[in-house]
Amino acid sequence: MAHHQIVIVGGGTAGITVAARLRNADPSLDVALIEPSDKHYYQPLWTMVGGGIFRPEVSGRDEASVIPRGVKWIKDAVATFQPNENQLTTRDGQAITYEYLIVAPGIQVNWDKVKGLKESVGKDGVCSNYSINTVGSTWKFIQGLKEGTALFTQPAGAVKCGGAPQKICYLAEDHFRRSGVRDRINVIFTAAGPRLFAVEEYREVLEKVAARKGVETRFRHNLTEVRSQSKEAIYHHMDTEEEIVIKYDMIHVTPPMGAPDFVANSELAGEGGWVDVDKFTLRHNRFSNVFSLGDASSLPTSKTGAAIRKQAPVLVENLLSVIQDRPLTAQYDGYTSCPVVTGYDSLVLAEFNYEGRPAETFPFDQAQERFSMFLLKKFGLPALYWHGMLKGRV
Ligand SMILES: Cc1cc2nc3c(=O)[nH]c(=O)nc-3n(C[C@H](O)[C@H](O)[C@H](O)COP(=O)(O)OP(=O)(O)OC[C@H]3O[C@@H](n4cnc5c(N)ncnc54)[C@H](O)[C@@H]3O)c2cc1C
Repeated sequence: MAHHQIVIVGGGTAGITVAARLRNADPSLDVALIEPSDKHYYQPLWTMVGGGIFRPEVSGRDEASVIPRGVKWIKDAVATFQPNENQLTTRDGQAITYEYLIVAPGIQVNWDKVKGLKESVGKDGVCSNYSINTVGSTWKFIQGLKEGTALFTQPAGAVKCGGAPQKICYLAEDHFRRSGVRDRINVIFTAAGPRLFAVEEYREVLEKVAARKGVETRFRHNLTEVRSQSKEAIYHHMDTEEEIVIKYDMIHVTPPMGAPDFVANSELAGEGGWVDVDKFTLRHNRFSNVFSLGDASSLPTSKTGAAIRKQAPVLVENLLSVIQDRPLTAQYDGYTSCPVVTGYDSLVLAEFNYEGRPAETFPFDQAQERFSMFLLKKFGLPALYWHGMLKGRV
């Protein structure tokens, strides 16, 4: 049976960032990382891939190239946790024991929860930015549409980066306008929630953006089925319980998401199936040698890589405190960020904390659309990610 001092589950944004920080802090730590995939993706770039700015391959690197030197890669997937025995079991049947565990397997995309979606996505005008396998189809269908209805959806519940479903809608609208077909296309954005954005300051701006662009917004609309043969989207109205049918020519679907099943079915899960951690210290509420961060955690903030950039140093400091038998002092304030692309030359950089109050980086009003912030998203943030965050430096 394999044993490691620290085991990290998931080699995505959170797992790699924490592994790098741990190794930087103390190269003598015995750290193992369990990750089944050969590839690591910078998912925020998928918005731009869907908008035709980058090709899909640009968003990925070999997993081996992002795993920090000295960290043991166990190329397998975790199947079950036995936290009372400080042990987990992988899909290949390996049992691995640990002294400390960090759980970061991300959020699960539930394609099955919309009838007809799994079979149709990538074909017949149905596309989605939420997988490397389908993101290429988004640009294909946006580019190919010359008239009709372009429909964009946002489901109920948590998704990766709450503003991302809107970003692709605004890019598509801008593309239709720039290519001279805008007046022949209805652009509709539907959301299961009651408003465009949770934070008041940014919501007001985004409502104006949608109005200026002539994007029709429909709220409390939860997509339940895609009928790709007849090009119909079927919704359940969350208040009136009615069934609503919208005909489309292209549809970008943000699928429902949730806690990964193997986490939700484990003793580590709390409400909603997420890994049940203290929202300030990131330590598990019942198992004191377990921590979690990122999309799989119960942290009540928008699920973004930007949030992980602030969670990782807190987790690492607190874990080192536990190892050295010191009190936990580092605290995460709920910081998250969502760069809402509003066109091919504009972006609103929303940054806020647990209180839903703006927590902005720059000394100007970030609620305004800016070209400089678009350039930051296109060039600055990917460089910061690959060379700073994943190396445990920023
Ligand atoms: C279209 C889109 C746009 C986005 N835009 C932004 C943005 O503008 N800004 C921003 O900050 N964030 C954005 N995000 C969100 C950001 O990508 C995620 O919040 C971030 O990647 C979450 O990191 P994570 O490590 O928790 O999960 P992930 O990075 O998804 O990594 C999870 C890892 O766990 C692995 N795993 C899964 N199951 C198991 C298992 N059983 N055992 C072991 N390993 C497992 C997976 O293979 C994966 O490598 C966007 C995401 C998308 C899809």
